[in-house]
Amino acid sequence: MSDIKKILVLGGTGEGIALAEALREIPHIHVISSLAGRVANPKLPPGEVRIGCFGGAAGLAAYLNDNRIAAVIDATHPFARRMGWNAAEAAAVAKVPLLRYERPAWVAQPGDRWIEVDDWAQAVEALRRSARRVFLALGRQELAPFAQLADIAFVIRSVEPPDAGMKFAQAELVLARGPFKLEEERDLLQAHRIDHLVCKNSGGSATDAKLQAARELSITVVMQRRPPRPDTLRVANIAAALDWVRGL
Ligand code: NAP
Repeated sequence: MSDIKKILVLGGTGEGIALAEALREIPHIHVISSLAGRVANPKLPPGEVRIGCFGGAAGLAAYLNDNRIAAVIDATHPFARRMGWNAAEAAAVAKVPLLRYERPAWVAQPGDRWIEVDDWAQAVEALRRSARRVFLALGRQELAPFAQLADIAFVIRSVEPPDAGMKFAQAELVLARGPFKLEEERDLLQAHRIDHLVCKNSGGSATDAKLQAARELSITVVMQRRPPRPDTLRVANIAAALDWVRGL
């Protein structure tokens, strides 16, 4: 048992699940996946799962020591603002190697008209200047800052309906869950005569068709940049993460 290495995967993402699955092929590794516990019925990774916060970087460092964790892989969402910093601090304190596994960000292609913003306040200002008909491809918790733009007609696409208290002067709701096809995205943007699209730079292929459709239709994309992360060793695919684990 003593030569089994315990790997803590900080998850809450599709990447975290895929990684826990893939790590099963490496002998002498025991994976513990950690979820924050925000979602009522989360999709669970295979193997051991722990749920709930650690209590900041100090709490995570104590967890690493108490559980004799050999290495940490931070596979949290690119827009999870805090956890990467906690992981870097805790790994340094506990002297445990740390890897960041992250899907690559989308990068503007020739023909793209992107306005990159750091937060929704900047996005609201960008829209106020020139937008009339806007497609919001955002989670329902992110919509509130846009409700103040009474002169703009919105099409809101989210997985679940926005809170009843949220009042948009002009908005149409499209309830849908990705992945989305290019034809569907093109049809939606054209049918609603959209001139601006707002989204976060999530990366990945499940929801990138809207960007191609926007490029073809010369629609401006207001793109929220990813928040800063510590300068940790990073990989962008599972094969590279597995190589790192094999080398521990
Ligand atoms: P965050 O700002 O980075 O984290 C806030 C706090 O939640 C952390 O300080 C930590 O609490 C706890 N936490 C976060 N991830 C955890 C994990 N994997 N295991 C245990 N505790 C965790 O992240 P967030 O934006 O609130 O997101 C929470 C979780 O949802 C993350 O795991 C993330 O991968 C997932 N998620 C986020 C988004 C998004 O857009 N933000 C989208 C999809 C999935 P303590 O400091 O007390 O330990």
